[in-house]
Amino acid sequence: MKRPLIVAIDGPAGAGKSSVSKTLALRLGFTLVDTGAIYRCVALKAKRSGVAFEDHAGLQALLDTITVTFRMDEDKNHVLLDGEDVSEAIRSPENSLAASRFSGLPVVRNALLDLQRRLALAAEKGAILEGRDIGTVVFPDADLKIFLFADPAIRARRRFEELFQKGHEKPVAQVLADQNQRDKEDSEREVAPLKPADDAVKIDSTELALSDVVHQIESLVAARR
Ligand code: C5P
Repeated sequence: MKRPLIVAIDGPAGAGKSSVSKTLALRLGFTLVDTGAIYRCVALKAKRSGVAFEDHAGLQALLDTITVTFRMDEDKNHVLLDGEDVSEAIRSPENSLAASRFSGLPVVRNALLDLQRRLALAAEKGAILEGRDIGTVVFPDADLKIFLFADPAIRARRRFEELFQKGHEKPVAQVLADQNQRDKEDSEREVAPLKPADDAVKIDSTELALSDVVHQIESLVAARR
């Protein structure tokens, strides 16, 4: 059976991965797998179930039964945790930091590998996976690998505006500090650290509009088809 086209979009928080991936998925009719949302769901479920970071047996039990699915609307990729729409709840600043911590645990990463691959391989035409280790670990044989990055100050400003619109008023300096902490944890962890795959196309979005990034990637996808 022919495999769907797999597009990996990796990079640090705030580089524009989510907006770019969503726009691309809608334009191409591809399935979107937001892998960060899956880590966020694990952190949220652990908090709600009272499973501590150190309790690896408890975490394994939680991971054995968790279900995360996505439902794409016109303008939003809804995230369902065990059937409940948690699209907003998983994006609180507190849960963002928790997701980053939980994602450093091998027990969590191993359990989620299969889920990420299944969601992508179930796609009809193609799948866009956004994350940190898609091109290096989840799909090292992806048809196209993008590493999207931007200047840290610009990323923090974008995140500040996004949070502000959602009613989270956090000083931009604090957003930058949290972002630096997440970048550090993501890049320095032993398992699947954030880094570009050797064969990734690197795109610096600091000075680019969303549409420019989307067009660049669309041409690359067209060339791979
Ligand atoms: O992309 P997003 O900011 O939603 O991801 C939340 C957290 O999940 C990240 O800070 C990162 O620690 C983790 N993550 C990961 N591997 C991925 C996707 C996300 O470790 N493929």
